[in-house]
Amino acid sequence: MDFDPRTYEPAPDLLSDRVILVTGAGSGIGRAAALAYAAYGATLILSGRVVSKLESAHDEILAQGDAQPSIAPLNLARAEANDYFALRDQVQAQYGRLDGLLHNAGILGIRTPLEQYDMNTWAEVMHVNVTAALALTQVLMPQLNASGDASVVFTSSGVGRVGRAYWGAYAVSKFATEGLMQVLADETSSAGRIRVNCVNPGSTRTAMRADAYPAEDPLTLPEPASIMAAYLYLMGPDSRGVTGQSLDAQIKK
Ligand code: NAP
Repeated sequence: MDFDPRTYEPAPDLLSDRVILVTGAGSGIGRAAALAYAAYGATLILSGRVVSKLESAHDEILAQGDAQPSIAPLNLARAEANDYFALRDQVQAQYGRLDGLLHNAGILGIRTPLEQYDMNTWAEVMHVNVTAALALTQVLMPQLNASGDASVVFTSSGVGRVGRAYWGAYAVSKFATEGLMQVLADETSSAGRIRVNCVNPGSTRTAMRADAYPAEDPLTLPEPASIMAAYLYLMGPDSRGVTGQSLDAQIKK
């Protein structure tokens, strides 16, 4: 694999005829990914918690002149089996296929030593960041398998590769995300119908980053729209045969 986000040039029709579901598509990196996928020809299913944000992303995609997306509200902290089945049924009824799944939704939890970490917060962070992503993947696997060239992309973090003090459940959940990606990639690699990878976005100008680093000047950070190369590469056919990898969306000079 010789991917470099600084030089990657996706073809304008990279994602044409593909149906892609993005979680956390209403804001931040997920919204930028949804807009980028739509701009490269995909039809988007915008999932997230806050409906008004999904509607706004929907309208922005239409204003770009791209294919009409649909919205699929799903609160990953509260969703039960029937909610996941309903989403699967919505995808099947509207499109009859699914070619890509970007697991982008995530929560930060609290920044505190593990000794004092609130266990309810721990459970919620692990659930939203890891368990819900697996639950969503499980119900969508038949449609992804049917695609023939499907891509599942999980969202990692630098603190999911090297542990860092006070990052608590968030860091542990991102280690788990890397593990989940690797296990699923290994399980699907021999059939070769689904590739499964991670993107570590790196420091990016979003609400979550501002929450984690309140004293930081956000203008020193790249906007989500400027880090999309790895997201496009992994979602499209240029990454055929690439599975079980964890890419960095930003490479420090
Ligand atoms: P963000 O702006 O806070 O976006 C988080 C997204 O997750 C929102 O769209 C939010 O949806 C969604 N979400 C949160 N809880 C949810 C729930 N219970 N159900 C459904 N959706 C939920 O943060 P971001 O920086 O773009 O984060 C995107 C991903 O990148 C996360 O996985 C994060 O860990 C990762 N990341 C970010 C950075 C960075 O520097 N920004 C660095 C490394 C990794 P609503 O808006 O609808 O609530």
